[in-house]
Amino acid sequence: MASVIDTRECPQYHGVADSRYNCRTYEDWLQCLVCGYSAWVVNLRDRKGDPGRFKLTKDGRIIQRFYERKGYGAYYLTSKQGAGQFGGISKRHLNDASKMIAKFKRICAERDVDPTASYLTKWDEGKKNALLFLP
Ligand SMILES: [Zn+2]
Repeated sequence: MASVIDTRECPQYHGVADSRYNCRTYEDWLQCLVCGYSAWVVNLRDRKGDPGRFKLTKDGRIIQRFYERKGYGAYYLTSKQGAGQFGGISKRHLNDASKMIAKFKRICAERDVDPTASYLTKWDEGKKNALLFLP
């Protein structure tokens, strides 16, 4: 498998977002580590035939679907050994930001997290910017 790992502009935050393109399957992912926006293009799988094969049009072309998810914020946790874990914040977490921050701090304390390489953001739609919280 050959993939191109690169960066592209986040359409929501307009900063740098991580991207990954699979040259064999033509599938594509974009993930913003600031606002939590994500988008991806995936091939439909052939569920009736071989599960590893893609669903094709009558003239043999791969059928793709585009998905995107608005960003409400993001978290990045880095262990002291250097392993990183990223996730987007869901819309329901915005209703109680103090609870979200408290949960983030609790996770940082419970796990072996490097506080200098971990963060939580909350997307501010009005300011078109992300508020940053550090553990
Ligand atoms: Zn973004």
